[in-house]
Amino acid sequence: MRFHRTAAARALRSALVIAATLAGPPAGAQIDTRWPQHSMARPQPPVVDPGRSVADTSHPSDAIVLFDGRDLSKWRDAKGGPAQWAVRSGYVEVVPGTGMLGTTQGFGDVQLHVEWATPTPPTGEGQERGNSGVFLMGLYEIQVLDSYRNPTYADGAAAAVYGQYPPLVNASRPPGAWQAYDIVFHRPRFDASGAVTRPARVTVLHNGVLVQDGVELSGPTANQTRPPYTKHADKLPLSLQDHGVRVRFRNIWVRELGEREP
Ligand code: MG
Repeated sequence: MRFHRTAAARALRSALVIAATLAGPPAGAQIDTRWPQHSMARPQPPVVDPGRSVADTSHPSDAIVLFDGRDLSKWRDAKGGPAQWAVRSGYVEVVPGTGMLGTTQGFGDVQLHVEWATPTPPTGEGQERGNSGVFLMGLYEIQVLDSYRNPTYADGAAAAVYGQYPPLVNASRPPGAWQAYDIVFHRPRFDASGAVTRPARVTVLHNGVLVQDGVELSGPTANQTRPPYTKHADKLPLSLQDHGVRVRFRNIWVRELGEREP
């Protein structure tokens, strides 16, 4: 089984590398305006069993390892001070009330791998169950949530581009199980006047299953609003959300992608 898991992980990485480096960003899907933001009437993403487990915690040789299970030296709290989340045996856990964690280094276009697990037994319902988030450039959230048998508004489910795109399917594992996001992100481009020349685009695999396919972001993600873009730097820290729940993270690595215009 070990061989098959490793081979599958290698195949997944190869596919991501090819998608990221050869194809360039795909033509982006746009927001479905038939549904108001956070609509509970919007159909739930179909449930898919992702199959294989997250067993291989290695990383590609050219990756920048942001967290290897041991220390938070590449992270800071929201005020720029030492990261205050709790490092345990091989993972880091949100300490509620300490705020978001951000990388010391800024990133633009990236391939990002993050593993996470929500608390078991679960507490709370909907958005209160296992909520955290991976914020690309600190602005664009891929939702982290316990979406295992836990309905919530579709554009706020696990692997949603929060408030913009529900995941194509719900590939969630049960609470307590390690889950993986593999994200290919292309930052927005702005001209000198601050106008958007190309919106941000993101592709996400959740536990190896495609859940966001090159979608175009309308701007930063937010609750109850879809704010427009505001011109920002080419590289900004990645951040992880403290939403008051003891969500765990491990094996976080990133590969910076070259500047490739379509
Ligand atoms: Mg969140």
